[in-house]
Amino acid sequence: MQQDLRLPGTMKAWVLDAPGELRLTQKPLPQPGAAEVLVRIGATAVCATDVEIIGHGEPAMIQGGLPFNRNFTPGHEYMGTVVGLGAGVDEFALGERVAVEIHAGCGRCERCREGMYTACLNYGMNYGGHDKGHRANGFTTDGGFAEYAVNHVNTLVRVPSGVSDEAATLIVTAGTAMYGLDVLGGLVAGQAIAVIGPGPIGLMSVGVAKALGACPVILIGTSRDARRLELGRRLGADEVVTAGEEDAVAAVERITRGRGVHYAMECSGAPNALNDAARMVSRGGRICLAAFPHEPVLVDVARLVRNNIYVFGIRGEGRSATRRAAALMAQQRFPAQLIHTHTFALEQVPEAIRYARERIEDAIKVVVKM
Ligand SMILES: [Zn+2]
Ligand SMILES: [Zn+2]
Repeated sequence: MQQDLRLPGTMKAWVLDAPGELRLTQKPLPQPGAAEVLVRIGATAVCATDVEIIGHGEPAMIQGGLPFNRNFTPGHEYMGTVVGLGAGVDEFALGERVAVEIHAGCGRCERCREGMYTACLNYGMNYGGHDKGHRANGFTTDGGFAEYAVNHVNTLVRVPSGVSDEAATLIVTAGTAMYGLDVLGGLVAGQAIAVIGPGPIGLMSVGVAKALGACPVILIGTSRDARRLELGRRLGADEVVTAGEEDAVAAVERITRGRGVHYAMECSGAPNALNDAARMVSRGGRICLAAFPHEPVLVDVARLVRNNIYVFGIRGEGRSATRRAAALMAQQRFPAQLIHTHTFALEQVPEAIRYARERIEDAIKVVVKM
């Protein structure tokens, strides 16, 4: 391995003990294998999915089970500097700043071969006699609430110069939005889109959709989302709707003069959001689900079928969408950094997670800076 010679033998890392219980400890420095690099982490953003994993376990899976008491380090939205190169790596050089995609699929299953590595059929198969090489850092392998992490070269994206460490953690969030627009059809120029839910993925969906020429871009939130809706405008929303003040479906109808939108991007996880989205899109419209409610919900299937409405679920950031999102950020097509609201030190990870979970001080994206 080629590496920065000043590397220590151990590192600080948070591990998940019982549900909700994180502990700061020392771990051996991980070693990159073939096609992998060692990243010195510069910043790690807290995602709603981290909150989910730390509290409830899923969708993380370590050695075939829930991630508790397995010396597992969560955190998946991070960036840093390449400080070690595994065998055969010439795609990246020591010292380069990189952001990461979460999923390195196994590369050998049917879905990976189709570019759908976030839906790898060997999810979590990376241990003992079950090692198919799958990695999803912060989900099935160690993640970014630590000083260092190992990444497959396929999961690295160069950070555009001029993008700060904190903003670079948002590249993968924008990549998820880009992947959602991919599955909707990709060519959104001149077409109408409704984005439901102004959380980080919703706000990045606004920025990416606008950069790709969608018109109008309609962002829908609730009265508690006033600040987020205002940010949505600055990220490119042509119209913002406060559900509760106005019926969201009626608002979309008004804005589109009764035609409905071509696409709906559901990022709220609200129980009735799919039914609302089905009433916002025109016949033949497409809906992407990027969030989900905790309980099963009633869905008006007849409306979907009678109107030939397509519904897609996405997991993460497939088909190299993250690289394309990084290209948009390099061109400064939308001010992603606006959604970064709070910064904490590595020693303060539990506090950072509490800010994100409870939306303290109207937190949107909370970042841990090393
Ligand atoms: Zn995430
Ligand atoms: Zn696979």
